[in-house]
Formats: sequence, structure tokens, C-alpha cells
Amino acid sequence: MHNYQLNCVNRSELNPKPMLTSSEVMAEYLIGVAVASVLGFLLFFKFQRKPSGSSAGALLTAVEECRCDPPASGDTDVIVVGAGVAGSALAYTLGKDGRRVRLIERDLTEPDRIVGELLQPGGYLKLIELGLEDCLGKIDAQRILGYALFKDGKNTKLSYPLEKYDSDVSGRSFHNGRFVQKMREKAASLPNVKLEQGTVTSLVEENGTVKGVLYKNKAGEVLTAYAPLTIVCDGCFSNLRRSLCSSQVDVPSCFVGLILENCQLPCPNHGHVILADPSPILFYPISSTEVRCLVDVPGQKVPSISNGEMANYLKTVVAPQLPVQLHDSFVSAIDRGSIRTMPNKSMPAAPHPTPGALLLGDAFNMRHPLTGGGMTVALADIVVLRNLLKPLRNLHDATALCKYLESFYTLRKPVSSTINTLAGALYKVFSASPDQARNEMRQACFDYLSLGGVCSTGPVALLSGLNPRPMSLVAHFFAVAIYGVGRLMLPFPSPKRCWIGARLISAASGIIFPIIKAEGIRQVFFPFTVPAYYRAPPTD
Ligand SMILES: Cc1cc2nc3c(=O)[nH]c(=O)nc-3n(C[C@H](O)[C@H](O)[C@H](O)COP(=O)(O)OP(=O)(O)OC[C@H]3O[C@@H](n4cnc5c(N)ncnc54)[C@H](O)[C@@H]3O)c2cc1C
Repeated sequence: MHNYQLNCVNRSELNPKPMLTSSEVMAEYLIGVAVASVLGFLLFFKFQRKPSGSSAGALLTAVEECRCDPPASGDTDVIVVGAGVAGSALAYTLGKDGRRVRLIERDLTEPDRIVGELLQPGGYLKLIELGLEDCLGKIDAQRILGYALFKDGKNTKLSYPLEKYDSDVSGRSFHNGRFVQKMREKAASLPNVKLEQGTVTSLVEENGTVKGVLYKNKAGEVLTAYAPLTIVCDGCFSNLRRSLCSSQVDVPSCFVGLILENCQLPCPNHGHVILADPSPILFYPISSTEVRCLVDVPGQKVPSISNGEMANYLKTVVAPQLPVQLHDSFVSAIDRGSIRTMPNKSMPAAPHPTPGALLLGDAFNMRHPLTGGGMTVALADIVVLRNLLKPLRNLHDATALCKYLESFYTLRKPVSSTINTLAGALYKVFSASPDQARNEMRQACFDYLSLGGVCSTGPVALLSGLNPRPMSLVAHFFAVAIYGVGRLMLPFPSPKRCWIGARLISAASGIIFPIIKAEGIRQVFFPFTVPAYYRAPPTD
């Protein structure tokens, strides 16, 4: 068990102290900073130009007031399937813009889940943009100011770069169910949003256009609801996405969830990430008296809870790797027995644009939950979609609307691809490996983040959704790799060290390039070459 003496007030005590001479430390620092700066500067400024003029980019800020038509036919403009984080926020947003929304949710009781409990500051800013920030009130939500990272008895604190924001801007952590219930209430408070309990069983399709949904209401009656646009937000286990996207779901691991009671975190108001073997462990507060622990277990099968294998695994493999301050509460939580598990899914967004329908939230796109980015992506998507729909008086021309909304898939990329790529890459880098090159990369990443300055604020700004720039992510990622190689060359480059360095670069490329490829290189780095990016709203 590691006895971490983490003092959150004094930065210098938080940084690990590697056994290096001062000149070596300086060399490491210079390599890291130089590479990050040069790569970041060259690549970022080359590719991050925004379109101008009558482009979709300009459209996003141009139209402020809603110009929705009065009801033309039918009584619904948009059906939203699923009132989770995405569906509730979307229904409220569209309702506020004057649309008549029908929100159909399978189960209206308060959810009790281990997902969606830490909202990154970037997500909090989106919540403010949508006018939903009061949903975090009166649920005992906790402020999150950054992360504390632990590895092999050392630790480092990574603060969110929040200096230029209002003092209330930070991450927030809470019980997912309490937050979702507040958002449902807020959506249902609008007279033009109708929230009802029902399970949607299929989409109603006519000649390739989705016209509405078939659903079973609380009384068991099978009903049909029609609307010009159906937005499917039925979450990570979506049954309805099949015809709307290529659902290539990867499940690299599962999270095992526990709640620690009355436990003092080494660094209050911070997420805690333990770089354990075989993979990371997370802790963060979800109320003033409870701390959520999520233990990553690689693979799709976890030890059995019912026959005690899980408790044994947690006590013998996980507990000894925890900071001493957390050990006893962790063991007590195991003994209380409320252990939950969830698969950690990842699925790139690969839509089949379909007239009359759209996917959003986890039904549309998922990433490893290590970095807690899912809700931030969903809320950012809703902001993009709201801005696209705002200038439209009605939504009745399904084909024209579908063509126009293709721009959504590119406009969402800066936020979604940055968060998705970082989640996938960090999960791999933070996991232990028998490969020495991968372990060098893991150590280099920890030490790079511990350097402070741009080496910590840069990656944390990316993770938190405050800096949605994929090019900056690539720059930092390769800065870590080059930093790792540079260290191997000190004090002198032996053939073995050169070989490990070459394999480290190869491993780094093997981690990040497949993720970027799945995100879509053109959409991510050259959005201005995608014709849909410039699509104008259809004229009525
Ligand atoms: C273990 C784990 C931890 C996570 N931690 C975080 C975190 O800390 N921070 C973060 O930002 N993200 C986190 N995520 C991701 C986050 O939970 C999701 O991105 C987010 O919940 C997506 O919201 P959603 O509305 O798309 O789906 P959900 O919140 O799952 O909502 C889907 C809703 O649809 C309803 N529904 C389903 N099928 C039907 C149907 N047929 N008819 C009607 N209704 C239906 C469901 O009842 C549910 O209410 C985590 C994910 C996992 C797996």
C-alpha cells in the first residue's frame, strides 16, 4: 500500500521528485517544453482557421431569436426518445426555442446508476449556455477543481486552467439520478414540452423517411407518435440506433463502482486517478459525504460478485495499490456489498444521415469514461444542434433538413474528437503493460504532466473540454512521446535505449492514429474541406 502524503496547498509537495540531477531535470523540462511548444505552435496555427462569410460557422452566431412557425400540422415538432442527460437537456433547449416537443422516457423514476457523475468545466459552460445550470442546485453537487494523479508512491496535482472564467465555473460531481431528475423537471416545466413515460419499440419509417415512433405507454397500450423530426437519445444500450448509424461498439473494459462513505480524499474537490496495475482507478466526491470509486477491469468479463470473487479481487489486487488514506473506507465499502458494474463502451460517430431522424448522446457516440467526457460531448452537441435549428421556421421538409444537418457532424468535431481521442489514448497510456516501451510512455506521461506549466494545463484544458482543439492534443501526445525518448537518451544513448525509444514512438503512433482515423481525419483536421460544413439552412 502506498502512503501518499498529499498536501493540496503546496504545489512543490505534490510533484514527484525523480532521482535525477538538476541538469537532467532541466534537460527533461526543456525537451518537454520545446517539443510541445514547437509542435503545438506549427500544427495548431496551420490548421485551426475558421470559415468566414456566409459559412455555417458564421451561422452559429448570426441568429439569436427563434422564428418558429405556429403549428402547421400535427401537434409535435420534435419527438425526443429517452430523457437521460442528453434527451432532457435537448427537450428543454428545443422547447425554450418554441418547438413543440414530445419527450418519451422508459422510466421516469430517479435513475440509480454509476455513470455520468462528473461534469467537466467545459460541460458546465455548455450547461450555462443552455440555461440549465440551476439543475446542479440543491443536489449536493461538489465543485471539482482538477485532478490528483498517483503512481508508484508519487503524486501530482493538475488544476483546471480556470483563471479567465467566472468564479463559479469549475467541474461538478453529483449523483447522476438527482441531476437527471432535475433536468427532466426543468424540461417538463415548459408548456410546450410533453414528458411521458413510455418505451419506444421502433421508428415509424415511410419511404426511407422517419415519421415518428411506435411506443408502449405506462398502461401497456401500443401507440404511435408522429413528428417531422425524431431525435433518438436512448443511451449506450440503444436499440434504435441500428438503422441510423454503423454501430461498431468496442468494450475495452468495465468499471466496478463502489461508494466510500465519510472518507477524506487526499486532495479535496479533485478527481483522483491512481495509475494502478492493470489499469486506472478513479475516486471523486459525489456528495458532501460520499466518494465514488470506479475500478477499471480490462476485458468484458468481471469477477463474479455473487460468489465473492469480486470482493476478493478488490481486496487483494486493488486495495494494496491505493493511497493509505483511502484504504479503510474502500475495504468498508466492499464489505457493505453494494458493488455495481458497467461496461465501458467506445463507439465513433458514424451516422447514416436519415430524413426525419437524428441520433444524440451515447446512442450516437461513446468514448472510454476514464476522462468523464460523455456529458460534455452530449451538451456541446446540443448547443451545435440548437444553433443549426434556430433559423428554421419549421422542420417539415425532411430531406432538405437532413441534408442541412449533415453540417452537424463536422461542426461538432472540435469538442467531440478532442475528448474522444484523449479518452481512448489516455486509457491505453495509463494502463500497465508487459511491453517496456509502453511502460516508458506511461511513466513519461506522468512525469510530463508533473512538469507543470503548459505541460499540465495543456492536457487538462483538453480533457476538461475548455480547449477543444484536436491539433493541440496531437501536439501534447507526441510531446510526451518525444519527452520519453529524450529521457531514454540521457545520460547517453545506448543501442538498447535507442531501440526502446523507437518502439515507444511506434507504440504512441499505434495508440493515437487508429483513434483519429475512426474520428475522421478530414473532419477533424480539415473541416473546411468538407462541403457539408458550409451548408446553409433550407429556405421555407
Ligand atoms: C461507468 C461509466 C461512468 C461514466 N462517467 C461519466 C462521468 O463521470 N462524466 C461524464 O460526462 N460521462 C460519464 N459517462 C458517460 C455518460 O454517462 C454518458 O455520456 C451520458 O449519460 C449520456 O447521456 P444519454 O442521455 O445519451 O444516455 P443516458 O443518460 O443513458 O440516457 C438514456 C435514457 O434513455 C432511456 N431509454 C432507453 N431506451 C429507451 C426506449 N426504448 N424508450 C424510451 N426511453 C429509453 C433510458 O431510460 C435513459 O433514461 C460514464 C459512462 C460510464 C459507462
